[in-house]
Amino acid sequence: MSLEAHIKPLSICQIMPPEIIESVSVTPIPSSYQKELGKNAYADNRGTQWLEWVVRAKSTNGAEGITIANRFMRQSTVEKLLAFLKSALLGRDVNDLLEISGGVVTGAGPSMNRWYRHNGWLSILAFDLVGKIRGVSAIDLLGGKKHDSVPAYDTTLYFQDFLNPEKSAQQVGDEAGQAVDDGWRAVKIKTGRGGRWMMPEAGMRRDVDVVLSVREAVGPDVKIYVDANFGYDHHLDLLDQFIREVTPANIFWFEEMITQDVNGYRAMREMLAMHGSKALLTCGEVDRAPISEIFQDLIDEDLIDGYQPDIVSHGYLGWMEIERQLKNTAVRSIPHNFGNGSFGTYASIVFGAASETYVSLEDERILPHFLTAQPEFSEGAYALPDGAGLGVDIDESGYAPHARHEFRVEA
Ligand SMILES: [Mg+2]
Repeated sequence: MSLEAHIKPLSICQIMPPEIIESVSVTPIPSSYQKELGKNAYADNRGTQWLEWVVRAKSTNGAEGITIANRFMRQSTVEKLLAFLKSALLGRDVNDLLEISGGVVTGAGPSMNRWYRHNGWLSILAFDLVGKIRGVSAIDLLGGKKHDSVPAYDTTLYFQDFLNPEKSAQQVGDEAGQAVDDGWRAVKIKTGRGGRWMMPEAGMRRDVDVVLSVREAVGPDVKIYVDANFGYDHHLDLLDQFIREVTPANIFWFEEMITQDVNGYRAMREMLAMHGSKALLTCGEVDRAPISEIFQDLIDEDLIDGYQPDIVSHGYLGWMEIERQLKNTAVRSIPHNFGNGSFGTYASIVFGAASETYVSLEDERILPHFLTAQPEFSEGAYALPDGAGLGVDIDESGYAPHARHEFRVEA
């Protein structure tokens, strides 16, 4: 072997010494909302808490990557999750998790594709751990920051009128006013009451009252998003009336007013034009294999303006691929984040910072308790984290009470 050939691999070795993942663990941690959340168009009361299935992976020098496995645990068990994590991560070199070129992630590391493919949430842990080992932000690994802060919206305005029937629509207005007092500059209102919980026309009327009450409460400058979770399916006539009556309230986007369908979305475009609304049309949180055919049709026909697969379920690699496919379209990234708890907020801030077309972060406003402090929130936007990886760690004192439900495997 020539001297040159002998030296080259050595120098690569010196730059990136092996860094082996030595333990993985799973811990279910309940996260609390700031209030009780009511129904939406299809599901009964959300309540006051939701679970985060926290996954931690530690490597040789003690660096730790974090994610949540909520998608996996929807239909699985701790036993199966630990077996999955053991096969995917344990004993693996952190340098093999992601393919990186010029400091930017270009894809899955060798033989990692099969682990990320249906479990995009795992790729977020990879960005976190690789970033921490290299001392770089996951924002840089995603391609670098495109914004100095990430706008967020309060997504907790459920059917709060059902929780306080006497105040009715005013209850939602009051909670929206509180959100603005708390510093929020954008809110999302759940609608579609006539889809299940009320007669269709009465539900539409209540939806209108709620939207107008919220606009009254928040003043003219706060952005209002409206989400019906398909509650206007089979009622395009009522949807037309709804859009006409709320257009004076200046709606920024209409989300999932009906199930994804080319003719239905074409009809909605016509309604918006007829009533003089400039609102965006958004959908896609139900797309489990983005970008699947019906959504591709809506994109190709210029019938939607924002696309919303979940940020944690599809993960950073999944969303990088989505953005590659959206690149030459006018469709913007608005990843769904509801149900991702406090971890989802961090994951969204990092992704939003690096996304050219990102609109706004869906924020459940979880009371912080097991992660280190969030970046500063002011004027309705989060500052960017400055630490390595996601810029967040486990706050061990907040985590400690939950440690008795921690399950771990070690190499
Ligand atoms: Mg939604």
